[in-house]
Amino acid sequence: MTESGRKEDPFWLKNMIVLGHGAPNRINSLGGRQGRCLCLWSEDRGYCRVYPVPYGFVHDWEVVDFHVRLPKNDGRENSFTLNNYETNWDKMWECIVVHKDKNNKRVKLSRDACIKLTHKLAIDTFSNVRDNARSFGIINPTKLTFFLRKNGESSTQQTTLVELDHTIMDQNDFKWLPYIQYECPQGCISAHPHTSKIVEWGCYQFMRKHPDDEEYCKKLGDNLHISDDSYEKYLLIGNIKNYPKTYIIVKVIRFKK
Ligand SMILES: [Zn+2]
Repeated sequence: MTESGRKEDPFWLKNMIVLGHGAPNRINSLGGRQGRCLCLWSEDRGYCRVYPVPYGFVHDWEVVDFHVRLPKNDGRENSFTLNNYETNWDKMWECIVVHKDKNNKRVKLSRDACIKLTHKLAIDTFSNVRDNARSFGIINPTKLTFFLRKNGESSTQQTTLVELDHTIMDQNDFKWLPYIQYECPQGCISAHPHTSKIVEWGCYQFMRKHPDDEEYCKKLGDNLHISDDSYEKYLLIGNIKNYPKTYIIVKVIRFKK
């Protein structure tokens, strides 16, 4: 396979399905340019994290190859950085190859394939993901509540959220932050319910229109169909670099029944 040779050598992560994008972070070593973190999965590799990925290169459920290497200061499981992103940021297309079909159309899983894969993966509980120090897991929650928390009330899940249409917007610019409280299916040994911040990028794109307006931001719960029984909902959770036992919600995966 591609990982022969030295541990630090770059290699290709092949046939990865994009499951979710976190909201962008500032990359200090690149003068504050924005990159996000992807949650990927493949049959061969399982869950992988790749970052920093520039805006606009990939979409959820597409199939992509990434040229990566091990990061320098990240102990999280199956986490990789794009190769040479520090010096080659304007040519990241060299490291991100989206699969295309014979008509040159980007390959994306069909709705049925997305649902089938989600059902296959949604077998986790919070404690089983955390206690095995996994980077990601998908939970099929038995209870689910959406709420906003005033920014600044909790500092344990710091994430910087930026570059929405090239306007720099920091987490501090959002007065309200979206949270979900949930319970896992049986087998979770951690205290219930769990409370996690949502970092799904689309949520911030929505709130950005009126970031100070609580009533407006609350509508995010409807957009996510949290209380709508005609939707199946699953939580894609992932851990954060500085607090690897803390998990945030990378995406609320949802399908109309
Ligand atoms: Zn649980």
